[in-house]
Amino acid sequence: MKPSVVWFRDDLRVADNPALRAAVDDGAAVALYVLDEESPGIRPHGGAARWWLHHSLTALREDLAALGIPLLLRRGPAGEVVQQTATAIGAGALYWNRRYGSAERTVDAGIKSWAGDAGLHASSSQASLLHEPWEVTTKTGGQYKVFTPFWRTISAQEFREPLAVPEKGHGFGGELPAYDDLESWSLLPTSPDWAGGLAEMWTPGAAAGHKRLAEFVDQGLSNYSEGRNRPDTDGSSCLSPYLRWGELSPFQVWHALGSRRSESASIYASELGWREFCWHQYFHNPDLATANLRTEFDRFPWAWPGSDGSGGQHPGHESAPEEFRAWQKGRTGFPMVDAGQRQLWRTGWMHNRVRMVAASFLVKNLGIHWQLGEQWFWDTLVDADPASNPANWQWVAGSGADASPFFRIFNPEAQRVKFDPQGKYIAHWIPEFGTPDYPEGIVDLKTTRAEALEAYKGMKEVH
Ligand code: FAD
Repeated sequence: MKPSVVWFRDDLRVADNPALRAAVDDGAAVALYVLDEESPGIRPHGGAARWWLHHSLTALREDLAALGIPLLLRRGPAGEVVQQTATAIGAGALYWNRRYGSAERTVDAGIKSWAGDAGLHASSSQASLLHEPWEVTTKTGGQYKVFTPFWRTISAQEFREPLAVPEKGHGFGGELPAYDDLESWSLLPTSPDWAGGLAEMWTPGAAAGHKRLAEFVDQGLSNYSEGRNRPDTDGSSCLSPYLRWGELSPFQVWHALGSRRSESASIYASELGWREFCWHQYFHNPDLATANLRTEFDRFPWAWPGSDGSGGQHPGHESAPEEFRAWQKGRTGFPMVDAGQRQLWRTGWMHNRVRMVAASFLVKNLGIHWQLGEQWFWDTLVDADPASNPANWQWVAGSGADASPFFRIFNPEAQRVKFDPQGKYIAHWIPEFGTPDYPEGIVDLKTTRAEALEAYKGMKEVH
């Protein structure tokens, strides 16, 4: 019996992994992870994501070793690397779990076609989303653009139970190709090493993900409907990076919520639904990170344009680049924004409520194109996700699907009073708050709000 290659991508786990299960059922298996920075259209990982990936691969290698499966690492264009690996070990089959980005699907289709020609069995499975984006359509056969009916349709389905870790198999007895050493990928920052705060907050890998999931279901879930809005508490699950990297599958999280759902558990389940909805949008709109879904926003007069040069720059806003830097560093003088940006820089994560406030401030009070904020988050978040990040930025900017209307402009001060009533979150992240070392607000909230509404009105009026 020939061995098979199981190709890991956004599914860095051994439990509930249908591709791994199929490979082990087939006989001896070799695992492969490819760092693909060359195939056209594949978005290179940001800095915080690279840190996570390094540690996640280390954990995966151990979990696979316990099953007698070696993990090969190789940097290069995935199409070539997968073919070379299959050829080198004399594989009879290729297994992977599906991914949904357009460039990634092009690569996968190419490999499938090569495998067919070469006489290899190639098989893919559903593992990373609860729904297959092409299977769920509106009554008229199109993509969903509104969350509520989308989620109503999806959540009416039964989702399969998660699969157990496969039994230890026969092991691969042949010779393995000499591939890369993880260290040679230099995924970890060195000069300077800014990852100390990430390591304090996070332990990447499936075991830590399961521990966090169990703790949250036990202690946090019953109060989630309130707790999720409070950055000063541990009220949300902090599972986003584990879901992003596939150390936990959505099926595992869904079933951990139990079958009889409290209000909190239903709200939590619908947050998983937002993740699905973001991927639904991304599948149907591969340029989600670079193009407004609502094209009238192409006319929006940004103070600082998008990375593609769209929409600005407008005279009178010469200070936009400095304001952008103040926003990145958490020095805007608006504590809710600054605390969030410092939390992000230090830990690679920001609370959802604060992400909305910080993003709204950038786009609406500073008038800076959402793409620049999206790129900053992409580089700094450990959960940076090619679908959820741009979809949420477009949601805040008003240019996305089922988006928050542009005229709903968060007031960072009102949000602070409401969601950090004792000032604990601010005190933690901004120790100098209330002293002369903390900057004055870099803009006037009232004036910039009025300017944003005026710009929006102008955009709507042009035909
Ligand atoms: P919980 O409240 O415990 O939610 C549970 C899970 O549901 C999350 O882990 C996540 O997988 C999913 N989820 C929750 N809210 C959303 C949402 N609005 N959209 C999509 N999925 C959601 N989330 C990412 O995973 N990656 C991103 O790159 C990302 N970028 C964002 C950018 C902006 C501007 C905003 C406003 C939100 C972004 N989010 C992103 C969504 C959300 O902020 C995070 O998923 C959440 O803060 C993660 O913390 P948690 O695991 O404690 O969430």
